[in-house]
Amino acid sequence: MTWFKRDKPKIETSEADEERNVRTEGIFVKCPECDNSLYKGELHDSLQVCTQCKYHFRFPARERLSVLFDDGRYEKLDEDVTSGDPLEFIDTKPYKDRIKQATASSGLPEAIVSGKGKVGGHLVFAGAMDMSFIGGSMGSAVGEKITRQIERALDEKGAVIVFAASGGARMQEGTLSLMQMGKISAALAMLHEARLPFISILTDPTTGGVTASFAMLGDVIIAEPKALIGFAGPRVIEQTIRQKLPKGFQRSEFLLEHGMVDMVVDRREMRGAIIRVLDFMMNRSSTAA
Ligand SMILES: [Zn+2]
Repeated sequence: MTWFKRDKPKIETSEADEERNVRTEGIFVKCPECDNSLYKGELHDSLQVCTQCKYHFRFPARERLSVLFDDGRYEKLDEDVTSGDPLEFIDTKPYKDRIKQATASSGLPEAIVSGKGKVGGHLVFAGAMDMSFIGGSMGSAVGEKITRQIERALDEKGAVIVFAASGGARMQEGTLSLMQMGKISAALAMLHEARLPFISILTDPTTGGVTASFAMLGDVIIAEPKALIGFAGPRVIEQTIRQKLPKGFQRSEFLLEHGMVDMVVDRREMRGAIIRVLDFMMNRSSTAA
């Protein structure tokens, strides 16, 4: 069935026009906040932050690590730690297929990548989560990788940094995912005993079991501007407490005002801010060495 009929001839487009169209689509990105068209190269140089309104686009995990470490150099860690399928779980599709698809589309081995290197001259074990791998969800592999990061830092007296970006625990692994919350928290307690710093960086979004465990356990907690940070979503909370939530609830700036985070830092100034924190917190051990 056709609802509309074209009675005028179609506008002729030459091949050259079409080609130009395709090319411009590829080099400009529209900012969802201010509607400005941003040149992709410029956006790359500004670390995916809108040069007009400072909107922070999502940032891939590997890039996070390369802009964090001195000269972008670091040793990749635990790339071989990946998810199994202990429950043989099937939702709309088998979990095994979901992992395969996520690996192929994101180019990542898991929802977190980690590395060892120097940041401002300090030894750092850093991890960065990525939303493009099953919503940045925390399964056994993610939990294991963060725990190993902490254990290595304990062995070698380094600092731990994790960039959180997560929808929460990975449902397909059931309680095994939830156990990671306790496992990582216990490892962080040992790090605390050893007086080594853990800097938690909250990016958009940091929610669920990740917020409820390590993300909020940082000695220093830094958030990117306007990131969604919370445990349950606003709708669930409103229905539970039967109250309207205030404006900006669960955003970085609101959490800063209410003492839940220590700093809100623009991505372009993040490395500098982290180095200042490390200089302050690692000073004793570095002068002793
Ligand atoms: Zn913008």
